[in-house]
Amino acid sequence: MIRIGKVRVHILRSFAMLLFLSVAAAAALGDGETAPARDPKQPVDDAYTAKIHKYTTQPFFTSPLVDYLPASKNVPTPEAVLGDVAGAPGILPYAEDVYKYMRLLEKASPRVKVFSIGKTEEGREMIAVAVSSPENLKNLEENRAQLAKLADPRTIKLDDTEADRIVAQAVPVYYITGTIHSPETGAPTALMELAYRLAVDESPYIREIRDGMITLITPVVEVDGRDRMVDIYRWHLSHPKDFYPPLIYWGKYVAHDNNRDAMGVTLKLTENVLQTYVGWKAQVLHDLHESVPYLYDNTAGDGPFNAWVDPILTDEWEMIGWRNVSDMTKFGMPGVFTHGVFDTWSPGYLMFIAAMHNGISRLYETFGNGGADTLERTLDQEEYARTWYRQNPPLPKALWSQRDNNNYEQTGLLTSLHYFNENKRLFLKNFYLKAKRSVTKPGAEGPSAYVLPADDPRLGSQAALLQVLQKQAVEISRATTAFTVTLPIKKSAKPKKDAKDTKEKDTPPAPTTREFPAGSYIVRMDQPYSRIADALLDHQYWSPDDPQKTPYDDTGWTFGELFGVQVTRVTDAKVLDVAMERVKEIRAPGGVSGEGTIYAINNNAEPSLATLRYKLHDASIEAAEEPFESGGKKFSRGSFLLRNVSRAQLNDAISELGLQATPVSAMPSVKTHPVRAARIAFVHTWLSTQAEGWWRIALDNLGIPYDYISTQTVSKTGDLNAKYDVILFPPVGFFSSPTAIINGLPSAWGNPLPWKTTPETPNLVGKNDSTDDMRPGLGWEGVANLQNFVAKGGVLLTATDTSRFALSIGLADGVSVSNAQKMKIVGSVVGTRLVDAASPIAYGYDEKLSAYCDNGPIFSLSSISGARGFRRLGGEMHTRPTGRGTADDPDFTPGRPAVEVPDEPKSEIWENPLLTDEQLHNNFRAIPPANRARVIFRYADSKDLLISGLVEGGDEIAQHPAVVDVPTGNGHVVLFSINPVYRGETRGTYSLVLNTILNFDSLNVGRKLAEK
Ligand SMILES: [Zn+2]
Repeated sequence: MIRIGKVRVHILRSFAMLLFLSVAAAAALGDGETAPARDPKQPVDDAYTAKIHKYTTQPFFTSPLVDYLPASKNVPTPEAVLGDVAGAPGILPYAEDVYKYMRLLEKASPRVKVFSIGKTEEGREMIAVAVSSPENLKNLEENRAQLAKLADPRTIKLDDTEADRIVAQAVPVYYITGTIHSPETGAPTALMELAYRLAVDESPYIREIRDGMITLITPVVEVDGRDRMVDIYRWHLSHPKDFYPPLIYWGKYVAHDNNRDAMGVTLKLTENVLQTYVGWKAQVLHDLHESVPYLYDNTAGDGPFNAWVDPILTDEWEMIGWRNVSDMTKFGMPGVFTHGVFDTWSPGYLMFIAAMHNGISRLYETFGNGGADTLERTLDQEEYARTWYRQNPPLPKALWSQRDNNNYEQTGLLTSLHYFNENKRLFLKNFYLKAKRSVTKPGAEGPSAYVLPADDPRLGSQAALLQVLQKQAVEISRATTAFTVTLPIKKSAKPKKDAKDTKEKDTPPAPTTREFPAGSYIVRMDQPYSRIADALLDHQYWSPDDPQKTPYDDTGWTFGELFGVQVTRVTDAKVLDVAMERVKEIRAPGGVSGEGTIYAINNNAEPSLATLRYKLHDASIEAAEEPFESGGKKFSRGSFLLRNVSRAQLNDAISELGLQATPVSAMPSVKTHPVRAARIAFVHTWLSTQAEGWWRIALDNLGIPYDYISTQTVSKTGDLNAKYDVILFPPVGFFSSPTAIINGLPSAWGNPLPWKTTPETPNLVGKNDSTDDMRPGLGWEGVANLQNFVAKGGVLLTATDTSRFALSIGLADGVSVSNAQKMKIVGSVVGTRLVDAASPIAYGYDEKLSAYCDNGPIFSLSSISGARGFRRLGGEMHTRPTGRGTADDPDFTPGRPAVEVPDEPKSEIWENPLLTDEQLHNNFRAIPPANRARVIFRYADSKDLLISGLVEGGDEIAQHPAVVDVPTGNGHVVLFSINPVYRGETRGTYSLVLNTILNFDSLNVGRKLAEK
């Protein structure tokens, strides 16, 4: 794989070219700017430099900034740990080795300091390395205090003169993060060498960076995934002729989506980087990726830009990005560009932590080989085509090495650091201005605040939402008195058509007010980090007419909607004068309000109810099948009635969970059924674990135990019912056709792909699953086992693509699935409606429920086995036939008395079609009412479907079932078209899954059967 012969050819040529380029670049810079040239007095590490040249495949794949390494008497080069230079073929260091090197640097140089910034889910350390002059590093705390004043202009009373004084002397912080995406492997070695250069190089160009600013580096963001990736690469090196296993797990929970967590902050890596960024009061967060040739600054895309960022920031993106392109173009490096196709709408990316906290977000895509092999790389036409934003495109074909990638990464970063340093007063002032404009937001664009009322029925989920905001460094206050705000008048889009006269037309509707009780939470918008709160709590609207036709990621995320809690956007500035106090720790009030033998807990679809069931092993818990009243308190369907639990034990458990229990004197007279702690199997494939990881982390955080098994285990387990009551089969994601789930990866050729811990791959498995060969799928045996499981009384729960799978292979009857023709719902928040409130799956829910949908499968119902239900297509299909009379008149036949036309059975799109007598006559295919699908929630009507994001052609899915319970044999298949558990953002729909689990053996409760 290391094509030494070919590389050698380039070496001689590259020496001559590099010399020429260095001179040319120096001459190309403008007045007053320091040229990138080495210090002639500083010796060069010749051996290291020779290897740089050896591993660089073309003379133009490097720059005068990185084509040599300055020598140092006492500071070790990366070779000390790597055994070769950064970017050498065949070498990928574990995170531990990278840290070892950074700590060697710290020991040898007063210009380097290493900080531990937290741990990953699997307990591995994350670090941040500061490189700057010894003086700057000595003054870190004083400098941080200065930067803090710019970051929070309230501390200097928004005084611009004082800000200018600080701007004139503060040292800015530029934070670089590497390898969040584990198969993108180049950043750690690039950042090791970058740290060395910044610490050692005496050239004026580098010295200015070192003296003028603090470069902060987290060389590995996804540490768990890095170590697994290095394992795989080492396996590949020792089995060079074999296919190597794909990286099925990155971090413990999710793969690529680790860079979509900057809204929910569910993962440790996000939390650690966020705290570091905000704690250091950094100005830039620059995240390194490797998927586009050769360097694409994909910070500022094609739009639409996120609607909540300050326009000052969007200008900064362009300034730095285009200057970067210009500098590297002058070095003669091909394929450096910005703009591109990215939209910059969602704030879920790691880099967006900076965009939402008054800094500058940046992201590079450089070109990686997914390991350290040197490879001939051939590009697609769209990658090498010249466009207006890519005037100097990459080559259609080139030999490409990890060193080339490291050259691009370091050159991009060094030119950025230098340009940033040259203009640091401007950027520091902008940092202050953006913070100030965040503080003055109520008087500018608004709103003044968001209010979360104290009487919300879901205080647990409300607390969970506020805790996310606190992780985002947002200040939360709590009203100490009741207060009233004036709500904005909603302008109707069209003038009233039926208005009687002009007077009525002109009279504006009266403003409405809303009263909030004392204890309501207020998220003030006159604080430095108001933008992230605003972005998360507001609604999103992506126009179907937007010129951008391919959203890069989700288009809607409104947290209040997805958490199922009330959030009011308040523009009335008086809200800021309400008596309130800052809240440090947010907790939903919980506890037992008196002494008794039976306790009742109301059901408001709070996920913590499921936690309680698993926590109190020995307690007897019943669910009320109807609403009831006790001691003047109203309890909804599904409310818990607990016995065999002491007050102290219950109080302990629920105080922590934010649940409230009331003693009741006697069991209420409503029907109840036991709520049992179901034994759960959680099934994953070996195709992708991306989507299910979000389900896993949700269950783990709620303390719901499960066995984590693969489809291979399902195929080997004949009697699943002996071990499990419920099988969860969450979405698979990529490559998840029903046949792929059954067949797995191709195994007619190639070699086994092991995923297991061996001396060669010590980190591979972590705490997840293992197999000798990832290739086999569920198989027909597995299908049969699932079928038996359900037939014998088990509950199988599927969502999105696994629902499609279940229906395709006939695991449930009476529901068909179809693909949308024109519909475009790209990661949006949509409206759903409760259809069957008596179903235990619906316990605690209201009439309306917002849910996450990404072009969900369209379910249709049929009451005839094997038949496809109709997909709704526009208007009413059954009008009367042509004949005499008006639209509702009966026709007649001349010469014969009129006859009465029997009523045709009519049903809504979310109802099982009623069968006619003709259809029922000797019809062994007619599904008896008790065996028909039971729709729990349906999608809202077309006009109410969009809550947040993009919905186009929504009438294709409007009114269709969103959550269906299909009785099958003695068991149930519960199908979701929405994805109820997603990216830590959808707590409001978790209980649909949890209710299914808790009521697994009572799902038929409350069922009303059709007559026919
Ligand atoms: Zn990436």
